[in-house]
This record gives sequence, C-alpha cells and structure tokens, in this order.
Amino acid sequence: MYYVSTRNKADRSTAAQAIAQGLARDGGLLVPEVLPNLSKNALGTMRDMTYQQRALYVMGPYLDGFTSSEVSAFAGKAYGGGKFDVKEVAPVRRVDGNTHCLELWHGPTCAFKDMALQMLPHLLSASLVKNQEGKTVCILVATSGDTGKAALEGFKDVERTRILVFYPKNGVSAVQQLQMTTQEGGNVGVCSVSGNFDDAQTGVKQLFSDAALREQLAERGFFLSSANSINWGRVLPQIVYYVSAYCDLLRSEAIQSGEKINVCVPTGNFGNILAAYYAREMGVPIGRLICASNANNVLTDFLRTGIYDRNRTFYNTISPSMDILISSNLERLLFSLTGQDDAQVKDYMAQLNKRGQYHVEEKLRTRMEKLFSAGFCGDAQTKAVIGRMWKQHRYLVDPHTAVAFDVLEQYRRESGDETPAVVVSTASPFKFCDSVLEALGETRLAQGTGLIDQLAQVTGIAAPAALSALKDKQVRFTQNTEKEHMVDQVLEMLR
Ligand SMILES: *Cc1c(COP(=O)(O)O)cnc(C)c1O
Repeated sequence: MYYVSTRNKADRSTAAQAIAQGLARDGGLLVPEVLPNLSKNALGTMRDMTYQQRALYVMGPYLDGFTSSEVSAFAGKAYGGGKFDVKEVAPVRRVDGNTHCLELWHGPTCAFKDMALQMLPHLLSASLVKNQEGKTVCILVATSGDTGKAALEGFKDVERTRILVFYPKNGVSAVQQLQMTTQEGGNVGVCSVSGNFDDAQTGVKQLFSDAALREQLAERGFFLSSANSINWGRVLPQIVYYVSAYCDLLRSEAIQSGEKINVCVPTGNFGNILAAYYAREMGVPIGRLICASNANNVLTDFLRTGIYDRNRTFYNTISPSMDILISSNLERLLFSLTGQDDAQVKDYMAQLNKRGQYHVEEKLRTRMEKLFSAGFCGDAQTKAVIGRMWKQHRYLVDPHTAVAFDVLEQYRRESGDETPAVVVSTASPFKFCDSVLEALGETRLAQGTGLIDQLAQVTGIAAPAALSALKDKQVRFTQNTEKEHMVDQVLEMLR
C-alpha cells in the first residue's frame, strides 16, 4: 500500500518513507491511497485477543515493508512490559445503561498522547533502517505541556533517536514541569524557554528552518524531525483503540455483533476523531461521529455550516489541549470526503492560509452531515459536568473528557438517538487536579504536587503511580534559554 499527499496524489511514498518524512514535500499530509477493509469475521476474531494482538491485526495491513514479527515486537514494547497500569491498555468502562467510556490515559504520562507516542518511535526507528538512512534522527518538540512529556517517554532510549523538548518557563503547570525535568533516559534533553508557548514554538520553528544548523548537525550525524500529530505514525496507532473498544463491547455483551455504536471525542487537532472515522471506513459499525469542542468551537461551526473560519477570539480554557483554532488533521478528512480531490484540498488550504477561512461546497457539507455531529461546552458547564458525574456515578473525569460527556448529552437531547455510545476519555483527572478539585467544590487548594494527594484524599481514588512518584524524583534538567539562543542549546545537547 502506498501513501499519497493530500495536495498531490501523484506524490507516492512507502509506509516507511511516509513515517520518516512526517509531512509531504508540498506541505500536504500523507494518507493511505486506499484503506484496508476489515474482513467480515475480523471483529469476532479479535474479540478475545489482547490489545497488543489487536494492534498487530489492525496496523499490519497499513505497513507494507514491515514484517508481522516486527510490528508484533513494536506492540509489545509500546503497550506491554508494565508501561500501562492496566492489562487491557485501553479499557472500556460502563458509566450507565448505554454510555461507555474508553479510557486512553493508562500510559506512562497519564494522557492519551501515550497511545500514539509509545508506538511512533519504534515505527520511526525501523523506518530509518528500511530507508537506509545512516544518520540519527533528532526530534525537536515545543510543548505546552502534555505532548512534550509523552514524546520524552516514548522516545526514551529508543535506538537511533534523540529528543529535545522546549517548554515555556511560564506556561506549564508545576506537575507538568516536574514530569519533564525529572525525565530519565540517555537520549533526552529538556530546556525551558523564557516566555510563553508562542515563544517556544516560534523558536523551534526557526530551528527547523536554520540551514546552518542543519549543516552542522549533518556533520555530526544528525538530522532534525518532528513528532507532531500530523505524522501518519501517530494517526495509525489511534485507529487501533476504536477497533479494540468495539471488540471489548462485544466481549462484555454490551452490544451484539453488527450493532452500531456512536462515538463522542473531545477534539483539538482532529487526530483522535479522524482515527475513529478511519475505523468506521474500515468496517467497524460506528454510527455517528460526535465532535466535542470547548469555547474554541471552530469545528462545531464548520461541521454544522461548512464554513471554516479561524478569524475569531482565542480562549484559554480549563481543557487546554483543545485550545486550537487550526485543526491540521481536518485536511485528511477533506481529502477523503472529496473523493481524493487533491486540487480542491490544496485550494481550501490556500484560502485558509491567506484569509483564515474557506467554505466547502454543498455536496461535501452534506457528506459531513451524514457522518458527524458537533457541539461545544464552556468552562462553567465543564465543571458542572465533572461534579455531576462524580455525584451520580462516582466516576471522576478530567475537563477534556467532561466536555465530551456534555456534548453527548446535548446530542441525545436534540436527536433522541439512544444508540450505545462510547465517550473517549483523553486524560487522567489527576493531570488537571486544580480544575477537578474546584469542580468538586473544594475551595482551599494545595500547592504543586500537593494537589495530587489532595485529589486522592477527597475522592478516595489512588493517584496514578507515575504522578505520585514525582515528588521523590531527581530533577535532571535545569537549563533555561532565551528564544534567540535555542540553537546553542541544541548544539550543546547534541555534542
Ligand atoms: C491532545 C489532546 C486532545 C485533542 O486531541 P486531538 O487529536 O488533537 O483532537 C484532547 N484531550 C487531551 C487530554 C489531549 O492531550
């Protein structure tokens, strides 16, 4: 199977090339030319498999040029060996009669980014060998919190890789900062940047376009790459958990073979819900794809009206991983729903770039309407939902997940559609202790990592071991740099 650019489908790559390259040469995203279909019995066959076996079954057909023993070994390294704190890896919990929650935060950093970032480094490292790339890849990340830590954990001690993470000195929580500065591993580096997330991100972008740096690093045997969510190697592992969730519902007899489910996904860059769309296209009986946003509701408007307009106020919310006005992965959906009309996609993206806006044609809007529903939820309502879920169901959710629960409820109220639904839970509530404690009515909050103990005490739920262990960990990285001097940090860390 080949991969093509969403802006030029004549540009074809192998899976290994697509993963090593990240972005297509024309700025488009790389997508599979055709999606493999699950056979009629596939879901029944996978019903009694482990998560690792399901990962091999689902990902294998996308990875021509990789042997099944290779992919099986990656799945074992990514999801086995005690890296996840439950053996199911991505368990499905029943919340009430026909509402289930897919928990994607049992990995080493307690956020759903682990599902993909535990797998990507193995795919990337093997791709370099297949492409006969002699140099070592150096991943540069600017992070507002969650991605940096998940990438560090994923790339830690993976052969032929180095990883350097820059975070804004005044832009991450105390827990997030500790998670990064105590990172273990021989191939990792962490440095704070004076300023906010924009400063860190602008700085990293400049590093990528710095030709002199590129040359110096090449002499030392390195080349730069990124691990952001547009890499196909991050989307692919996410398809697995939708298939897996369906198999788990079959196994627990919550649904019958062939019965439809709806999924509701808290959405930022559109990677997670795109994976649900691909699972549906492959043959998982998914009914509606429900896209949940916070106050940054650009996707709600787009899916309802067909007009994408990023010219609007940006809000900092209590679900920060969804504070996004340009959802990069949407480009892949447009490519698919236009019947792979690369010229049309290229035109929409040019308009977005130039005017911050595009308007899709009626045929495409109707197609989206058949598949997607969308809604949004503000901060006050998000907290109310956290409080209510705890009171009614003794189920503790983080703010991102709460947004999705609210949007599912709105959808059910408006449509009357009571199809069994899976709400995707993207972070442990212990990653967002302050908002969760406030939602539970606590008015006096502890400081720093004390918040973790406080939430455990208030709820009687044990904090994830990775978070409660933080306070005893040694800080390894104390470097700080001005945005203008990031290049020196890179050269220092890659000596
Ligand atoms: C990244 C993230 C999201 C958004 O996922 P996308 O794939 O960007 O739509 C939602 N919740 C949490 C906790 C995240 O870290």
